[in-house]
Amino acid sequence: MQVAKLTATLLLSLSALLGVRNSPQVDLNGGDWTITQNWKQADGVSSVEVQSSKIVQQCSQDEFSTIQFPTIIHGAHDIFLDGTKIGEFGKRKFQSVWSFYGAPEIPCSMVRGGKVLTWRGYSYSEYFARFSQFPRLVSHSKLNLFNETFNLIAAGCLAIMALLSAVLFFGRVPNELMASITLGSLGFALYFFGSTAGYFQITGTMLTIHKIADFSVWVGLALFYNSLRLTQYLSKRFYRIYFFNIVVGLVFIVLGSTGDVVQFGTTLPFGGTILVNIACEIELVRKYIREGFDRRALFVFLSLTIFLVADLNEIAVVTGLLPSYTIFNLGAVGGLLFFALYVNERITQTYRERDYLQANLELEVKLKTSELKKKSEDLETTLKELKTTQADLVQAAKLASLGTLSAGIAHEINNSLNYVYGSLRPLENLVLSGITSEARSKATKLFKIMNEGLLLTFDIIKSLRNYSGLNQAKLNDLKLMEVMNSVETILRPRLRDSIQVIHEVDPNLSVFGSVVGLHQVFMNMISNAIDAMPNGGQLNISAHAEGEHVKIKIRDTGTGMPDQVIQRIFEPFFTTKEVGKGTGLGLHIVKTEVERQGGGISVQSQVGIGTEFTIVLPIHGASERLPDAA
Ligand code: ADP
Ligand code: MG
Repeated sequence: MQVAKLTATLLLSLSALLGVRNSPQVDLNGGDWTITQNWKQADGVSSVEVQSSKIVQQCSQDEFSTIQFPTIIHGAHDIFLDGTKIGEFGKRKFQSVWSFYGAPEIPCSMVRGGKVLTWRGYSYSEYFARFSQFPRLVSHSKLNLFNETFNLIAAGCLAIMALLSAVLFFGRVPNELMASITLGSLGFALYFFGSTAGYFQITGTMLTIHKIADFSVWVGLALFYNSLRLTQYLSKRFYRIYFFNIVVGLVFIVLGSTGDVVQFGTTLPFGGTILVNIACEIELVRKYIREGFDRRALFVFLSLTIFLVADLNEIAVVTGLLPSYTIFNLGAVGGLLFFALYVNERITQTYRERDYLQANLELEVKLKTSELKKKSEDLETTLKELKTTQADLVQAAKLASLGTLSAGIAHEINNSLNYVYGSLRPLENLVLSGITSEARSKATKLFKIMNEGLLLTFDIIKSLRNYSGLNQAKLNDLKLMEVMNSVETILRPRLRDSIQVIHEVDPNLSVFGSVVGLHQVFMNMISNAIDAMPNGGQLNISAHAEGEHVKIKIRDTGTGMPDQVIQRIFEPFFTTKEVGKGTGLGLHIVKTEVERQGGGISVQSQVGIGTEFTIVLPIHGASERLPDAA
């Protein structure tokens, strides 16, 4: 009770300061209204009574007009004609609500034949015990637009907007934002439904309905500004202060036991609302100056401006500065509508950005693809270059082995020539000493030796020519035995006496292949075997026809190889021999050559026991398949 008295006194002195009166001094419509009882409080209800006879006369002549009675905020009305009650809007004891701002109207037909019209107004609070003008005649066609009509429209619109926000924004904006807009709109809707409770036959005391409605509107506003916070248009700190402001107001609304206290609770956060609104708008203007026009910001600005005007209007009405004409209803609808438009714009922009990104992504992918294409082309050229380099290397290796061999060949030629040289002097002597029968037989022998030496020289040179492929490079039927013999001739100095060579080759066995290639193969195989038997041993070479293939086995009793060596022997440049001795190309060349001729190679080896290579070659031509002759 103390709080109620204090609040009423506070509000009244504020109104007095602003020059607000509790009843009009003169009838601006020229009526003959007299105040028969000025505002008087009894049992917590203030009442006023005014009378007129002139308005009854005027109405008799103008049956299409209506009499509009003044607004009393959160009030009730009784209308009497010659002492008989002809109209009742709300209950005098406020056990039921008609409306928060409504100005009652009755048609002129209701007063025809009467003499004196009495209007009794009741106020729910001390502070709102006021009215700003006397009852008046209004044209029948005019609607009571500025009061409950718009409140009703606003209630409907806001309920629809809440529904639409929930449906349209769900999943497209963060859930908290969607919920704030939806529940915010719903809060406002509830306020306007409450303010017109009488129209919906909703029963409840003025105090209860007033509390529910005002509680809803402030929760709605808190949620609306929370949306602004979530969209970064309102700083967190500002919002927190403002939220505290609202909570204080809500405490008055919830705990208040009189209309004055509840209304005070509602009036309290208006100051904060107006300040926050202005702060947001200033920030928006600054942003506009900084970053230029932005459709989204414009919608927010419009939303805030509408709210600001509506708030200012509401505060003017509450303080009694303006008669009860309020645009708060339209303001709420407009403000929330523009905010919803902002959210919609935000969603549209998000989709636009997504589309843009998508388009760009395609472009990016295209760019990357062409880059990759170029890289793979580069790689291909590099690979080609590598292949030629490899071929060059193979060629170089061939030349290198030719070089090492030429020493042996030179030795052989030297030996052969020695025969000739050694025989030449005795022959000269003999020729000089004249030819006897004895001499003739000796000369014949010497000539034979010379002949043999020369034949050997031819043989070696022939082998050399075969090896280097000077004779034939084409694929042919080759007698295996011939190829092996010429290789062994070349390798003879390295075979020494310590290595015993055993052949198991049918002298008529032939394969279809490249002369040069086969020489390379056997050269490398036998040369590796010799290297593996530094202290001598046995070299078995066998060749048999097996169907369409010839199986050649080259077995030595050399060092053998561990598994990790076997796995790598065909790799180019893999060697276990010391620098200058091994090139690591031998077996690689062998494998390439064998496979090129449509065959294959395999190996079995045991450390300390020896190694056996098996080469399989087709007997008949794979010639047409062969890409190039080495
Ligand atoms: P290189 O003879 O120049 O080392 P190869 O490709 O001909 O190159 O041989 C590769 C390696 O395979 C040799 O270094 C050797 O370790 C091993 N190897 C080849 N043949 C034999 C063999 N008959 N016995 C033991 N090891 C061998
Ligand atoms: Mg080798």
